Amino acid sequence: MRQCWSNGDPSASIVIMASKTKQRQALKILNETFGYPEFRPMQDEVIFTMLDGRDAFVLMPTGGGKSLCYQIPSIMREGTGIVVSPLISLMKDQVDALNHCGVNAAYYNSSLKSAEAKEVLAEFEAGNLDLLYVAPERLLTKTFLKRLEQVKIALFAIDEAHCVSQWGHDFRPEYVRLGELRKLFPKVPLLALTATADEQTRGDIAKCLGLTRAKRFISSFDRPNIRYLIAEKRQPLTQILQFLDDWKNASGIIYCLSRKRVEDLAVNLQRHGVRAAAYHAGMPARVREKVQDDFLRDHVQVIVATIAFGMGVDKPNVRFVIHHDLPKSIESYYQETGRAGRDGLDSEALMLYGSGDVNLVRRLIENVENPKQRQVEIHKLNSMIALSEGLTCRRKVLLGYFGEETEEQCNNCDICLDPPETYDATHLARQVLQCVRELDGNYSVGYVVDVLRGNAHARIKNRGHHELPSFGKGRDINGDEWTSIIRQLVHHGYFSQDVSNKSALLPTERAESLAGDTPVILAKYQPMMRRKLKRFSRNRDDHLFQKLVEMREKLAEEEDVAPHVLISDVALSEMSQIDDIEDVSALASISGMGKYKLEAYGEVFTDVLKEHASQKAKEEVIAEDGAPVLLAKGPPATDAQAFTWELYKSGNSLDEIASRQHINKVTVMKHLIALVRAGHHVDVPALIGPAFDSLMIELDDADPYASLSEIKRDLSVELTNEEFRLMLAWREALGVS
Ligand code: ADP
Ligand code: ZN
Repeated sequence: MRQCWSNGDPSASIVIMASKTKQRQALKILNETFGYPEFRPMQDEVIFTMLDGRDAFVLMPTGGGKSLCYQIPSIMREGTGIVVSPLISLMKDQVDALNHCGVNAAYYNSSLKSAEAKEVLAEFEAGNLDLLYVAPERLLTKTFLKRLEQVKIALFAIDEAHCVSQWGHDFRPEYVRLGELRKLFPKVPLLALTATADEQTRGDIAKCLGLTRAKRFISSFDRPNIRYLIAEKRQPLTQILQFLDDWKNASGIIYCLSRKRVEDLAVNLQRHGVRAAAYHAGMPARVREKVQDDFLRDHVQVIVATIAFGMGVDKPNVRFVIHHDLPKSIESYYQETGRAGRDGLDSEALMLYGSGDVNLVRRLIENVENPKQRQVEIHKLNSMIALSEGLTCRRKVLLGYFGEETEEQCNNCDICLDPPETYDATHLARQVLQCVRELDGNYSVGYVVDVLRGNAHARIKNRGHHELPSFGKGRDINGDEWTSIIRQLVHHGYFSQDVSNKSALLPTERAESLAGDTPVILAKYQPMMRRKLKRFSRNRDDHLFQKLVEMREKLAEEEDVAPHVLISDVALSEMSQIDDIEDVSALASISGMGKYKLEAYGEVFTDVLKEHASQKAKEEVIAEDGAPVLLAKGPPATDAQAFTWELYKSGNSLDEIASRQHINKVTVMKHLIALVRAGHHVDVPALIGPAFDSLMIELDDADPYASLSEIKRDLSVELTNEEFRLMLAWREALGVS
């Protein structure tokens, strides 16, 4: 995360009061208890503010690290930190995670049986808790408030603080009363946290919670580890399967617009062997809970859902979010894609954009009764379309929408990775500016385009706009292209659109610069979006990572917690990069391995690493002649594969293997592909024949944006589908990406 980019409160250029000793102590807790080497930007400042007993208001994107901002001061300050959180399901995970770091934390909500609840309260009253998570409606009961008066309170932390706002997307009436806390406990520091980027909601939070004198911490809303990809929707199922091919075993969410699409897609994915499950509000609550739990516990890999899914799910290792259909606003898009990569590891957000979906969303909006609200929603949809059809860095458009300035290029979105051709469009930008000025900044993009193109329709004639100097000046450029040009000019900050006035186009200050010498460089208009997906190359031993994941799953199963609660993907990924391990001390520097976890799980994981290293050493001995050798983790996955494997090892040809089992050759090849994937050493170079080496080189050089079928088509030697897939499996098993 980058440094703070804006800050409404001048006092936030803070003089940090917390003493040096306290600062050192905070760092020590970060290192030893949580196992992290250093604070993320702003975390330390928020913590010190709490330690000084002042209120704070923290706006940080999802995954920014908000929890530590109240956890560390709660541990350090005398008394218990009270954390208000709207979601019961999240409390358990957070508390489990804290307990796994050796912190005394508990939660108090309606999910507890009465004996358990009594126990928690007893611990709380005895002053044994560093943190207590409470649901807002519980907190504000008379009896609980009484209890609070008798126990020392370290601080109040209000998580998901946007729930107080009626403007927000998740208003919760019980949150409104939290404003009483500021009055009832004037001496206890109060911290409000949210990841909501919208300005109106921010204002509401400060007002409702009485945070008049709070320090404001506003971080960038950029999520640099998320790669944004927007592709034209063609054959969504095939496109999604292709995408999933790069994310085997990784968790992801696919959003669809309707329940029917959710169900259809989930079934189709299951048919293709993906561990997918459907989730939407029409399903019985119990089923939904089960699906959610299976997802958290990695029993289900992919959730196909309507937007009903997500809010209550705090899974840090969601690696991808796919939008099968168009989100209805940029806010939704940002929020939904934001569920990927909370742990900071590389993640992807893919949106499939189809013009049919635009019409569908338009029709939904037409049903909105309040005309004012309808107008706002149309404006939001148009901004979403502009992002999708845009030719400007996705991140720039996304963050620009929330008022944040960024670099021109992020180098981690499809536009930056595969830039369209550009040209000098200064004269066109000037034409637009002149036209907008002649129209007094009162008309939307469509109208401006009509005037430029010289479309003398009735509305234009009635207003006499066919007599403006700009009328028809841009006749030689077609309407779609003009729209694209104007969108880009908006994205680059030359114009803005006035929501309160039918999205009318207005020149910004930057438009003044159009008179100067700096050229305006725009992307050449492409009538058909043709964006292919780039595939990742990941820098870790996937085989070892998978072994570590399996070990974690086993431990989590034993302890009955979600795997990510036990040890993060970040930690496993770092472990999988350790080359040579002698003993458990090598794990001390792994991110997230605090003292407590090192003691509890250090040995087990060290053993996995050692075993893997010794296996690899053996492998290297076998491979003395220089030829690579695969090493399987276990026996073949199915009986059929096992039979093929035995026949293959005994030296039978493909034809012989097929006829012995009364199956065809294609099936034998499919078995071999599965065997190679599982690490069984099939001599693929021999099966492919003399062209093998040159084909490997061609695959190395293949355009990273090309689809598999395109790569296959471009090879110098024609391969069958199975041969091609066998080669890919071989490369993958060897760790070539
Ligand atoms: P948020 O509540 O803002 O969405 P979290 O508090 O859940 O974010 O933190 C996101 C992830 O980042 C968690 O996995 C957390 O353990 C990790 N994290 C937080 N602070 C640090 C830090 N200083 N160093 C390394 N990882 C951190
Ligand atoms: Zn970009």
